[in-house]
Amino acid sequence: MPGTPVNNATPDERKLNFWERLYLPEIFKGLGYSASKMSLDSYAFEYPEEQWYPPDSYRGRPVLVEEQGRPRCVSCGLCARSCPPLAISMQAHEVHDDIKEREPEWFEINMLRCIYCGFCEEVCPEEAIVMSKEYDLTFQTRDEAHFGLDKLLVPKARLQDRLDFLERRRNGQPAGDWQHKPENNVHTLRNRLDYVARVEDAVAEADEADPAEPLAEDVEA
Ligand code: SF4
Ligand code: SF4
Repeated sequence: MPGTPVNNATPDERKLNFWERLYLPEIFKGLGYSASKMSLDSYAFEYPEEQWYPPDSYRGRPVLVEEQGRPRCVSCGLCARSCPPLAISMQAHEVHDDIKEREPEWFEINMLRCIYCGFCEEVCPEEAIVMSKEYDLTFQTRDEAHFGLDKLLVPKARLQDRLDFLERRRNGQPAGDWQHKPENNVHTLRNRLDYVARVEDAVAEADEADPAEPLAEDVEA
């Protein structure tokens, strides 16, 4: 049985005039606009000869921060837990020569699964995994897309742009009346090297200002 035609037009819909109903004037207007832009310089990059250097806010492939020759990561597993496509896997092991106590024995990101969402960077308490500016990844096989520590570790100096960006953007508060204090972060290891250096300086200054009383046996001697 044929249905009843429904008129979906809203009551205040504008009526097209004669020229608009012809469509051709609008098409020629569009062609004219395109032609006027053809004389301008090209916006396109001559990739790959010409490379694009993204801004600090760009989310390229996730990488691990390497600090003093070892990963900053403490293998807490938060990034793997928060990764929507389950692209991250790792195994922790204990370390005894550093205050952080745990490090990844192996760490792997399946780049065929990664969707560049940045959640891993977002949740990492140590700023140990960050989104880099690398965007041109190619693989010949599926195995090549499994990035281990050898491909993931990037020296901190090369990621300084992103780390500075995170410090600026993460520590800002909407209310604007709260100032980030680095000393509040001592529960994390993110700034542990700076923190240890600051404590040592403070102790040295205190010693200079108020040298310890000589011991009794020193006085007698
Ligand atoms: S960027 Fe997103 S998808 Fe990629 S590893 Fe991090 S959390 Fe997973
Ligand atoms: S969240 Fe950060 S510290 Fe924790 S396992 Fe991931 S990269 Fe390492």
